[in-house]
Amino acid sequence: MYENIVSFIQDTFQTKEFIPLHEPKFSGNEKLYLNECIDSTFVSSVGVFVDRVEEAIASYVGVKYAIAMSNGTSALHIALLLADVTKNDEVITQALTFVATPNAISYCNAQPIFLDVDLDTMSLSPNALDSFLQKNCKVQNNSCINKTTNKTIKAAVVMHTFGHSARVDELKTICDKWNIELIEDAAESLGSFYKKKHTGTFAKLGIFSFNGNKIITSGGGGVLVTDDVLLAKRAKHLSTTAKIAHPYEYEHDEIGYNYRMPNLNAALLLAQIEQLNNFRNSKRLLSKLYSKFFSQIDDIVYIQELKNSESNYWLQALLLPSKEKRDEFLSFMNQRGIMCRPIWKLISTLDMYKHAQCDSLENSFYLQDRIVNIPSSVR
Ligand SMILES: *Cc1c(COP(=O)(O)O)cnc(C)c1O
Repeated sequence: MYENIVSFIQDTFQTKEFIPLHEPKFSGNEKLYLNECIDSTFVSSVGVFVDRVEEAIASYVGVKYAIAMSNGTSALHIALLLADVTKNDEVITQALTFVATPNAISYCNAQPIFLDVDLDTMSLSPNALDSFLQKNCKVQNNSCINKTTNKTIKAAVVMHTFGHSARVDELKTICDKWNIELIEDAAESLGSFYKKKHTGTFAKLGIFSFNGNKIITSGGGGVLVTDDVLLAKRAKHLSTTAKIAHPYEYEHDEIGYNYRMPNLNAALLLAQIEQLNNFRNSKRLLSKLYSKFFSQIDDIVYIQELKNSESNYWLQALLLPSKEKRDEFLSFMNQRGIMCRPIWKLISTLDMYKHAQCDSLENSFYLQDRIVNIPSSVR
């Protein structure tokens, strides 16, 4: 019954072989820069490619500073530390996200609170945030106190799901009113803009990931972005073992982390950054093809970008009418070599997070049962 969908995807990717969900593409200067990097012997955490990558990302997204790190999760961990998230603090985030988001909160020994997402953005809902805060919280001595636990809510992390922007300006306004630091987990949304501004740059702190499955990759890597010079300096300090610069002495002034991106990975990444706009255009074209095709198919909704936004369409997504139909679809497509996956299970249902405070999560449960991703690689 989904036979026509199989044919359409095979035609679109011009193959009858297995079609992966998302594969990286190395069609530029990757080998050139990698050879240059190896010949220089600077393959580790210091080198010109790291500097060039930091400049290129800062300029692409339109911020003053970018600090390259070993992966997106470590960049998010550092962002939370910079927001002064410590033991016994609480951090609000969405239940519908990849597990790295709450894990980074846990690395700070803080507790996550899981709130609902909007149906159209699949990202943290301003309405859910506002009503949770009004119902459960008070501002005291410039801090947001959760009346249920008596703990301080230091930060909120919004994640731009599959590259589609959250209503991040509204979230920022609410967070400012309640003295909560907003952080953007923009791991999936490099190349996505909301109201002409790049995602990850609305909050004081944002992060991107360059894992192998993202729109561009360094093999493994991430970056923290900010306009604040002091936060940028502190991010670099904390992610490089808190070493005080000195020609030969070992001097460290606090417990830091070894979260620096190796120069070798930065060499690969620089070549990928050069192709980012091409990859983005290819994904946006694919989205037009899918959107047109699925508009003729009953019962299946193709997920579009918000008005006022330009998505990178990192992972293409469909909404199926029910969990049963979703399961049928997944099994049918995967059996025919078209790789499709369901969206994540809600984090609040995982063993290690099931005791966390939540709201109703009505939209999150609805989407959890119905959203699938379909092949999304750059063609
Ligand atoms: C990919 C991703 C990350 C970071 O992943 P790393 O593999 O650590 O680079 C964080 N959050 C979300 C939502 C992601 O999709």
